[in-house]
Amino acid sequence: MNEYHLHQVFRWIEVRGLIRGPRLALALMLTLCLMAIGSCSRRPDPLQKAFDAVGGREAILELRGFGYESTGDRFEPEQGPNPEADPIRVGSFDLSLLCDVENDRLSLDWRRQVLDPLRGALAYKDVLDGDLGYQTGNDSVFNPPDASLERALPSERIAAVRREFRLLNPLLYLRAAAAGSATTLKADEELQARTHHVIEVADPVYPVELLVDAESGLVAKLRTLQNDHLWGDVVTEVSYGEWSSPEGSNLQFPHRVELAVAGQVLHTASRSSVVVNPEFAADAFSLAEEPRTQVDPGAAERAGLTAQYHTRWHALGVPVDQDATLVTATAVGGDPEVLHLTGAFHHSLAIKLDDAIVVVEPPLNEARSKAVLAKLEELWPGLPVSHLILTHHHYDHMGGIRTYAARGATIVTSALNSAYVGEALTSTHSLVPDELAGAESPEWEIAPVPPDEEFSLEADGRTIKTRHVPSIHNEDMLVVYLPESRLLFVSDLYMPAVFPVGQPMPGPFGDWSQGLREGLATLEWEVDWIAGGHGGVDSIADFHSHFDS
Ligand SMILES: [Zn+2]
Ligand SMILES: [Zn+2]
Repeated sequence: MNEYHLHQVFRWIEVRGLIRGPRLALALMLTLCLMAIGSCSRRPDPLQKAFDAVGGREAILELRGFGYESTGDRFEPEQGPNPEADPIRVGSFDLSLLCDVENDRLSLDWRRQVLDPLRGALAYKDVLDGDLGYQTGNDSVFNPPDASLERALPSERIAAVRREFRLLNPLLYLRAAAAGSATTLKADEELQARTHHVIEVADPVYPVELLVDAESGLVAKLRTLQNDHLWGDVVTEVSYGEWSSPEGSNLQFPHRVELAVAGQVLHTASRSSVVVNPEFAADAFSLAEEPRTQVDPGAAERAGLTAQYHTRWHALGVPVDQDATLVTATAVGGDPEVLHLTGAFHHSLAIKLDDAIVVVEPPLNEARSKAVLAKLEELWPGLPVSHLILTHHHYDHMGGIRTYAARGATIVTSALNSAYVGEALTSTHSLVPDELAGAESPEWEIAPVPPDEEFSLEADGRTIKTRHVPSIHNEDMLVVYLPESRLLFVSDLYMPAVFPVGQPMPGPFGDWSQGLREGLATLEWEVDWIAGGHGGVDSIADFHSHFDS
């Protein structure tokens, strides 16, 4: 109520002759009370405003289920040609989604076109019921295109898919708030020159902040934190737009969503055919009895906090959900001091010196690094890793680098990504503290390899060389060469023993290998064997056979 209004009230009291001696105080108090009540009803609190904007608290509470068709694109910031490059578009998707809000069930029927760096058409359905999940179809570009498989989903995937689904659907948070979930009102913020109320709402994984447009009352944005194996606590923001009511409902739904992590857009989607409180088919969420998810609450909690890592893999067409802790050590070329450490989709190479070990490649995440380091401790006890050589900056090959830094390794990496690697080693990891986050004074350092120079490590009768090779896969690619073993280690440029000998390699694999072939022709390295960051070990003759056919 403004001053002018107040003045009028007093005038009215005066004119009616109400102000008489001691009654003045009483009348004033009464007036002020009425004004206070009046102003409350005219200026709803931000949460009420958010409820009203989408159809009111009652309608939100009556939301028992919904469904929609979603069409969009997925992007990947850490698979580009260099660390500064714009995210690549890894694929497009169509999704038919059903959510049984009341009974905590979800059905996600995906059709994905995986475009870059891998290629494939995938069709699969994930059905989640509480902490159980089941998949039919094919979600991997490494399976035959027409594969139709069935499997129980691991707890990690269920937790990650659920978390991303919630972030993309702000009505779920409004519903939780309407049902009495604790909320905290924070200071208003300006967003694109408009005032927004900020309401924190609980989430099973980590609280989210809803940014509610002060004028329209619509949730413009959601903000929360997630974990990333390299970058630690990463701010995650979801923007919502094109709100409208689906047919037969008064509830407002966002028809446009965009999810960004650490300022990089990962997911954009448009929604259509939104239905509210539909009659679900009897088998819409049915799971096979067997096999059943082996529920792992600890794994689910970690994956929920790190959901973006998992859903990025799904978009790449490589369903890496569970920690890859199986490590198989194979002596390369019969040399027991050069080990190919496989057992997952991503591999490392370890070379034993007299007093130390050199490891090439720290893929995936800390769980993988710890498993590899435990295997090395078992085989070569008491030897520290003095050097860790990184082939390139793509997150799947670099994700476990922090564990080696925590244990004092010198990180040998391209000068083209050394600043980026340094940032990863100094990032804040409070959501999921890793070994480096807990290290008192870690003694890692970075040894950058300039683009035109060879880095050479000579000790105990062994030489380990690394240098760049030009590649369309990325600009900062190092390959590693052991002259005494005549062995080359490469990641991504060639996947030894994966494709049939004597036949051309499909799609991007052939293109990447062609680049390696040209690169090798310019080097004075005598290579007999190639070990892969993916795949196995091949002879150089097998490598060339893919081109000579
Ligand atoms: Zn790569
Ligand atoms: Zn790779």
